[in-house]
Amino acid sequence: MHELSICLSILDVAGEEVDRRGNPQVEAIYLRLGPLSGVVKEALLSAFELAREATPFRCTRLVIEEVPIVVYCSKCDAERPVRSMQDFSCAECDTPASKLIHGRELELAALELIE
Ligand SMILES: [Zn+2]
Repeated sequence: MHELSICLSILDVAGEEVDRRGNPQVEAIYLRLGPLSGVVKEALLSAFELAREATPFRCTRLVIEEVPIVVYCSKCDAERPVRSMQDFSCAECDTPASKLIHGRELELAALELIE
């Protein structure tokens, strides 16, 4: 199961971070997720329930922040949202996007620790 292995590697990274900080309890793990990451938020949340069993993160919540798709538009010379998931054109001027800025994220954003 794809999402489960993703969750396990997130917990790996979080575990190293927690080690570095002297093993505090973690209230929540914040994750940034883009629509182009290939991972569905709901699937990730349910995989996390499984992944956290038998780890020090049993009581830790996973909080997913969804990142919108943002592209660089050469005509506007600016970062812009796209028209839709199917149409990667600048929402302002309709020019096809030349570069993806945000949308592929699947990354640990922050840990919320219990003081
Ligand atoms: Zn534009």
